[in-house]
Amino acid sequence: MAADAPITQDVVTIPRKLPEGGRLNIVGLTRDALRAALIEMGTPEKQAKMRVNQVWQWIYHWGVRDFSVMTNLAKDYRAKLEAHFEIALPEIVSKQVSADGTRKYLVRIAGGHEVETVYIPEEGRGTLCISSQVGCTLTCSFCHTGTQKLVRNLTAGEIVGQVMLARDDLDEWPAPGTGTGEDGPRLLSNIVLMGMGEPLYNFDNVRDAMKIVMDGEGIALSRRRITLSTSGVVPEIARCAEEIGCLMAVSFHATTDEVRNKLVPINKRWNIEELLNALREYPRLSNSERITFEYVMLKDVNDSDADARRLVNLIKGIPAKINLIPFNEWPGAPYERSDWERIERFADIVHKAGYASPIRTPRGEDIMAACGQLKSATERARKSRAQIAAETGLDGAA
Ligand code: SAH
Ligand code: SF4
Repeated sequence: MAADAPITQDVVTIPRKLPEGGRLNIVGLTRDALRAALIEMGTPEKQAKMRVNQVWQWIYHWGVRDFSVMTNLAKDYRAKLEAHFEIALPEIVSKQVSADGTRKYLVRIAGGHEVETVYIPEEGRGTLCISSQVGCTLTCSFCHTGTQKLVRNLTAGEIVGQVMLARDDLDEWPAPGTGTGEDGPRLLSNIVLMGMGEPLYNFDNVRDAMKIVMDGEGIALSRRRITLSTSGVVPEIARCAEEIGCLMAVSFHATTDEVRNKLVPINKRWNIEELLNALREYPRLSNSERITFEYVMLKDVNDSDADARRLVNLIKGIPAKINLIPFNEWPGAPYERSDWERIERFADIVHKAGYASPIRTPRGEDIMAACGQLKSATERARKSRAQIAAETGLDGAA
């Protein structure tokens, strides 16, 4: 690890327990935490497991938000739950629907902060792109989120809450008393942790939220339908394999340390070699298949034939798929998207070396929902006011 350029994570996470007298939000508690909370409320230990199962099923399987309808629980027990707990989700402030069907939700969380969540419908399936932080501590130079400094980590409840809100909007909760329809196609069938923030810098909350999402008695998405994207927080990669077990994507984006230092500055802390060593171990530790290498195509920066050849050499021996992402523009971005022929030529070289190299079709560009375009609307407004001031010279600065 290079000793220079330390990248620190200085964040505040909202505590799980509400202050004295307040009600504890059940959403985001793991099974173990829920069990402990129910016992603390006075549930006899012997009954706790069954009560967890019942409450869990109502909330995560049927999407119910009201204790009073949990009819397999005694009335006075429901009242007790009501007095001690709440079932609270973040709030959808606005929803935009793109011409291609992509839905972007602006979600307000405690403290008035906002994050974006994007639903991308596909043939016979659909992917939800969720956020893990408000802003980001990292400053990848091609990423819009990276221009917004970190405000705070999302809680586990706010992370799983995004999935629940999307299921509300898609009307995808089975009716109480019925099964999940696990075998039929689901509108929300996959999750990618590719929204705002670096998920491995909010590890515990991301892990707890994904445990809830993967739980077979609830939302029940398998770990192979969840992909976590990291910019390369090397020490947390093995933990991700062991404690979550989901698929891994890495924001690779460059084939030399010199270029990657500029594009993905966390590379100054953990360089390409250290990153690749951690990734090499991942499939074995998580018993999963390929790693997805994300590679944003930036004109004349990282898109040459030599880059493509270096890339395939670097990843030799790692079961991998290379996802080529045409750069998505945002106001003031210092890069341009590579030409289409260049992207195809790059894809071709990678493909001929034996790797799948799909070019990611930008989705929801018209509503600024594409990769790397997410940012809190309030922040965006603030930035554009600042930009306008700078452009017009009206901000009084020299
Ligand atoms: N912070 C995590 C996950 C969020 S970003 C990470 O960096 O991996 C999801 C993907 O979009 C990453 O690969 C990111 O590098 C890429 N991305 C960011 N800005 C982009 C842009 N303007 N155009 C295309 N892809 C971008
Ligand atoms: Fe943060 Fe990922 Fe954007 Fe980098 S690419 S600034 S890690 S959100």
